[in-house]
Amino acid sequence: MIVILEPNLSKNDARHKAIVAHLNSYPNIQLRSHEVKGQQQSLTEIYLIGDTKPLPLDIIAALPGVERVIRISAEYRVLGRHCDDLRSANFEYNGVTFGQDTLNIFAGLCAVDTPEHVEAMMRALQENGQTCTRMGAYKPRTSPYAFQGHGASCLPYVFELAGKYGIKVVAMEVTHESHVDEIHQALHQTGNPTGVILQIGTRNTQNFELLKSVGRQNDYPVLLKRGFGISLEESLNAAEYLASEGNSRIVFCLRGMKTHLGDPHRNFVDFAHVPVVKRLTRMPVCIDCSHSVGTRIAGADNILDIFHVTAQGIIAGANMVLVDFHPAPEKALVDGPQALRLNELAYFLEDIRIARQAYLDRHALNQQFQDSQG
Ligand code: PEP
Ligand code: MN
Repeated sequence: MIVILEPNLSKNDARHKAIVAHLNSYPNIQLRSHEVKGQQQSLTEIYLIGDTKPLPLDIIAALPGVERVIRISAEYRVLGRHCDDLRSANFEYNGVTFGQDTLNIFAGLCAVDTPEHVEAMMRALQENGQTCTRMGAYKPRTSPYAFQGHGASCLPYVFELAGKYGIKVVAMEVTHESHVDEIHQALHQTGNPTGVILQIGTRNTQNFELLKSVGRQNDYPVLLKRGFGISLEESLNAAEYLASEGNSRIVFCLRGMKTHLGDPHRNFVDFAHVPVVKRLTRMPVCIDCSHSVGTRIAGADNILDIFHVTAQGIIAGANMVLVDFHPAPEKALVDGPQALRLNELAYFLEDIRIARQAYLDRHALNQQFQDSQG
C-alpha cells in the first residue's frame, strides 16, 4: 500500500507526524518514506510493507494531510503501475524531459578515444539539433587485455566539449560507485557545462551494491540496461532496487538478449517488450539498437538492420534511443563495426521522425476506436 501525502507537507508538520504515528500503530507493518522531488513541489509517498490487506483504506485516506492511498497490485512498489495508478513518472533533468510520452535520441561514441573524435561527434550533433549524447569513459570489457576506456582522465574534455556544443545530457556508463564521484568532481571542476545520466550496463544489472549506491544519490538520473541473461522481471526488480533507495528518475533500456538464437544479430532483439515495460511500470523505455544488432548488415531493401529495429522500437512507443556513431569507425577502439557514420546522422534522425509519427498516428487511431466504443 502507498500513502501519498499532500504536496509539500514537511516532516515537521503536525499532520505528517500524526499520519506516521497512526500508520505505526498497525502491528507488523513497516514504513518506508520516499521523497519525489518535482520542479514545483515535492511529494512524500509512504510505503507500507508487510501484510497490508486488512488495513482500512478509507480510514487512512481520510487522515488530514493524506492525498491518496493506493493498493499495490504488482510487485514493483515504487515504479510499478498499480490499479488506478495514473501517477506520471516523467522527470526533467537539465532541461530535458524524460517520460513515457517523450522521445530523446542519445547518439554518440560507444567509447571515448580522442578529443578530436569527441569534438567531431558533438559538432555533428549540434548541427543536427541534438542536445543529448552517449560517451563511454568506463568500459566493461570481456577481455582484461582490451581497451578499458580512458576513465576519469577524459572527463574534463568530454564535459567541456559537450558544453561548447550545447549538449545537455551525456549518457555515461559507471561500473563502480567511485566513478560517480569522479564524474561529479569533473563536472564541478569544469563548471557544470552539461549533465550526466548514469548508465548501468547489462553486465551490472544485478550488481546490487552498485544499484544501491547509485540509487542513494539524487544528483543524476539513471539509465539501467536490461540484464542480457536474466528474465524481464529480474531486470525490473533491479530498477526497483534503485528506486527503493530513493532515486526513481530511471530510464529502462532494452538492449537484446544473449543467445545464439538471435544470430546473425549480436543479441536477440527484444524490442517487443517496449509496451510490456510501459504497462508494468511507469518508467520511460529506451532501446539500444547498436548493442542489440551489433553489425552494419542491411536487409534486401538495403536498409540497415540497426535502422529497422530502431523503427520497430519507436513504432511500439519507445521513449529513448541509444545508438553508437563514430566519425572514423575503422579507428574506433570499441565496437567500430556496429557504429553508424556521421554522414548517416541526418538520415537516421529523419527515419526516426517517420517512425515516431507512425506511433503517434497509431495512438490517435486507438483513441478514436476506444471513443467509438463508448
Ligand atoms: C554500452 O552501451 O556501451 C554497453 C556496453 O552496453 P551493454 O551494457 O548493453 O552491453
Ligand atoms: Mn559498445
